[in-house]
Amino acid sequence: KDQIQYPRMDCVDEWVRHYRSYATEGRCASYIPALGKADPSQLGICIVGPKGSVIKSGDWQVPFTLQSISKVISFIAACISRGIPYVLDRVDVEPTGDAFNSIIRLEMHKPGKPFNPMINAGAITIASLLPGESSRAKLEFVYELIEKMIGKRPRINEEVFQSEWKTAHRNRALAYYLKETGFLESEVEEALEVYLKLCSIEVNTEDIALIGMILASDGYHPIQKEQVFPKNVARLTKALMLTCGMYNASGKFAAFVGVPAKSGVSGGILTLVPPGIKRELPFQDGCGIGIYGPAIDEYGNSLTGVMLLKHIAKEWDLSIF
Ligand code: GLN
Repeated sequence: KDQIQYPRMDCVDEWVRHYRSYATEGRCASYIPALGKADPSQLGICIVGPKGSVIKSGDWQVPFTLQSISKVISFIAACISRGIPYVLDRVDVEPTGDAFNSIIRLEMHKPGKPFNPMINAGAITIASLLPGESSRAKLEFVYELIEKMIGKRPRINEEVFQSEWKTAHRNRALAYYLKETGFLESEVEEALEVYLKLCSIEVNTEDIALIGMILASDGYHPIQKEQVFPKNVARLTKALMLTCGMYNASGKFAAFVGVPAKSGVSGGILTLVPPGIKRELPFQDGCGIGIYGPAIDEYGNSLTGVMLLKHIAKEWDLSIF
């Protein structure tokens, strides 16, 4: 549909093939047993411009669960329903330099406010702030937002959810701590159910590229021609993605790729290029990029996905800096 002829597009297939071979240097997340079943050699990418998908390569269609990429969506949902000041009273906007599931700063820095919504402590708190008196109502609010963005009702991968639910010991510890300090607004089990169900939503690279495209367009859905969320929420979310979205590798990612991004332990990366970065890119109005590569590195980010993005960012001069 939107096939802009661009001389180097063929190269994407070649780059995907090339970086797939590095998958043996990483491994699939296994602390959530169901994620350990993924094929580590898979790598796929989808790039969506304002008129629709433009580049799809490799395993772009393979379904995977959102995992931490859901943190972007639940944060947007909380800001829409509660307003930014309310949300930021309960979750800060500072990077930690710690692992995504770290608990240490909650106790070190009184009164224990989570540092940012892109790590587990922040995202579990955000899950408790969502509107509605039950996990069902809270989830429904987020499902409707996702449906507006990707044009289909999200589906939970039950096997992954059950696997997470049974092994969420660290997340439970975080949630109980947050309950004790008063940051968690709902009951522990309700916040955990919402958080883990959002992590278990199944998507492919095109779905997350579309969400990236909407973020690149400051909350405007260029295909549906609808403002899905306000511009100030989009700007705040992108700042958080840039500073905290790749966990304790966010600095390296900003330095060597240079665009807002959010990863998940299942190997997905949602990233985007804001409009105005013209250079050699065919998408002068910005684009969303979805990546899937389930072999992850020591930080919990897709190993081959980050390699591919580094390469693309260099070739196409994508850095926002
Ligand atoms: N569901 C995962 C967890 O809470 C998400 C973490 C991640 O993607 N880094 O542990």
